[in-house]
Amino acid sequence: MARYTGPVCKLCRREGEKLFLKGSRCLTPKCSYERRSYPPGQHGRENQFRRGRASDYLLQLREKQKARRIYGVLERQFSRYFKRASQQVGLTGTNLLVLLERRLDNVVYRMGIADSRAQARQLVQHGHIMINGRKTNVPSALVSSGDTISIRPESTRRNYFRQLRQDLDDRRVPRWLSISAASLSGSVLDLPKRDDIDVSLNEQLIVEYYSR
Ligand code: SF4
Repeated sequence: MARYTGPVCKLCRREGEKLFLKGSRCLTPKCSYERRSYPPGQHGRENQFRRGRASDYLLQLREKQKARRIYGVLERQFSRYFKRASQQVGLTGTNLLVLLERRLDNVVYRMGIADSRAQARQLVQHGHIMINGRKTNVPSALVSSGDTISIRPESTRRNYFRQLRQDLDDRRVPRWLSISAASLSGSVLDLPKRDDIDVSLNEQLIVEYYSR
């Protein structure tokens, strides 16, 4: 599945907030948004104070773009998620976020196996991750309650995963997931509820965007 390959920090500057797309770098003074918190582009700096009141459409569009960028999903796939969420029982906005959270690359990131969703995506694509003992290299695969996520045995000999064994203990995992540093594997205990999803998104605006 295709992915965004352009400049990443520009996306944070466009959305006007830190989206934490680059892992630990985002927490250092090297963060581009810390140094240049105005929109990208030739006139980004001069235009940042000139803007009037944002239209409803602009707010809805920006929220949808922000969600796509946080989860690393392109337009067409995102609209498919929305369609699927709208066909499910319950609140469409919450259903959408739950679907995005269930993506394998997101789960690998949430478990602390990777520093960012982009890195998690790469680990999956390179065949290091297994779901219920079967290797999968599809970052958009959706996990279900009770699934076990583990590292392929051949991959555990790599330096990255050896180091990870020591680092994993220190990381916090959301309530709906578990991780064991010793076995380098984790479980999906339950599907996430809205309160478990700590992204700064107003999903109602995304619903309004697609309901125009
Ligand atoms: Fe965004 Fe991280 Fe880049 Fe900072 S370093 S601008 S938070 S992606």
